[in-house]
Amino acid sequence: MKILVLNAGSSSIKYSLFAMADHSTLLSGLIERIGEPLALHRYQLLNQEVSRSEQVIADHQHALNVLFETLSSSGLINHADLSCIGHRVVHGGELFQQPVRIDAEVIRQIAGMVPLAPLHNPANLLGIEATMQLMANTPQVAVFDTAFHQSLPDYAYRYPLPESLYQHQGVRRYGFHGTSHRYVAKQAAEFLGKPLQQLNLISLHLGNGASVTAIEKGQSIDTSMGMTPLEGLMMGTRCGDIDPALHFYLSRSLGLPLDAIETLLNKESGCKGVCGENDMRTIHSMADAGDARAKLALQMYAYRIKKYIGAYFAVLGKVDALVFTGGIGENDHWLRQQACNNLSGLGICVDEIQNKQPARPCGAIHADDSKVKVLVINTQEELEIAIQAQSCLSNLRI
Ligand code: ADP
Repeated sequence: MKILVLNAGSSSIKYSLFAMADHSTLLSGLIERIGEPLALHRYQLLNQEVSRSEQVIADHQHALNVLFETLSSSGLINHADLSCIGHRVVHGGELFQQPVRIDAEVIRQIAGMVPLAPLHNPANLLGIEATMQLMANTPQVAVFDTAFHQSLPDYAYRYPLPESLYQHQGVRRYGFHGTSHRYVAKQAAEFLGKPLQQLNLISLHLGNGASVTAIEKGQSIDTSMGMTPLEGLMMGTRCGDIDPALHFYLSRSLGLPLDAIETLLNKESGCKGVCGENDMRTIHSMADAGDARAKLALQMYAYRIKKYIGAYFAVLGKVDALVFTGGIGENDHWLRQQACNNLSGLGICVDEIQNKQPARPCGAIHADDSKVKVLVINTQEELEIAIQAQSCLSNLRI
C-alpha cells in the first residue's frame, strides 16, 4: 500500500510518498513560489541526490500536475497504485476529532472553519480541491492538527470570557501540532516498552512554531497553543503568552491598526523581536560571539519552556517522560539542558554526555537516577498523517 501525503500552503505544496508496509519514504518534495514568475521544485527519490528545477507553475492544480508527473516518471507508482492521499488540514474546530474521508460535505465543513484559521485552511482547501479534481477515483483523507487536542477538558479549553463567545463564535482553545505530539507520544511508548494508555508525558515540539502538550494516559489534556498558534511558548517570530491588554496599549498609545498588531505579534516578535533573528542556529552563533540580545533571547526561550514544564507537571501529577522534538527540540542540546536545569526536585535530571549525542530517531538523555525519563524523538508529521489516513480507510479509530 502506498500513500501520498500533501501539505498545501498558500504558495507551496510539500509532499511525501510512503510505502506503508515498512513506513519508508519513497519520495519527498516541495514545490514553492506557486503563482510567482518562477516556481522552485525540489524532490528526493529514495536515497538519491536532491533534484531541483525551476519553471512557471501558475496555480495549485498546475503544481499537482507537476507532482503527479514526477511520481509517474519516478517509476515508483502509477495513479492506479496509489491507495490514498492524506491531506494535512490545520483547523478541524470541534467538528473533527478523527481523520475523515473527504467528500463535498467535508470540504464545505473545512471551508466553514476558515474564520478560525484564515491563513491556513484556505491554502489546505486549495490543495484538496485541486487533488479531488485530478484524482477523483483515489480515496482522500483529511487529517487535522487540532484533532489530538479535542480530548482537553472544558476547564482547560475554555477562556474566561463571556460564554456567548464560545457558544456562537467558537472562541476557545484548540491547540495545534497535534500530529507531531501524537506521533512522538506513540514513539515514546514504543521506546519505553509500555502501552501509551499507561503513560503520562509532556511533549515539547520546538520548531519555528513551538508548543507543549500534557498527555495523560495517551490523551492530550492540555496544550500551550490556543484558539490560534500564537498562544503559549515564545517562538521564532511569534510572541506566545503576553498580557492581552498590550493590544490596547499598542492601539491607543502607538496608533497601530489591528492588522499591524497582528503582523507584529506573529511575524516580528518572539526571538526575532528580542534579538533580530529567528533561526536558532544563528542566534547561538550570535550569542557565542557575545551578542547580549541573542543571549537574552535564548534565556527567555528556555525560561518559558521551563515554566510550562512546571505547570504541566502540576497538571499531570506524575510524569513518566519529557519528550523533546522539532528542529530545535531534536538538535539544540543547550536549550534542552537549560529548560531542564534545576528540575531535580521534580525528578528530572539530564545526563550531560547523553544530551550531547548527535540527533537520532529516538534517544534517551536522562541520567540513570532520573525519575522522569527525558527523550529526544525525531518527529515525522507526514508519516503520522499517512498512518492516520490508512486507519481512516480501514474504519479504525485512532
Ligand atoms: P518548522 O516548524 O518550520 O517545521 P523545524 O522543526 O524544522 O521548523 O525547526 C526549525 C528550527 O530548528 C530553526 O530555528 C532552526 O534553527 C532549528 N535548528 C535546526 N537544527 C538545529 C541545530 N542543530 N541546533 C539548533 N537549532 C537547530
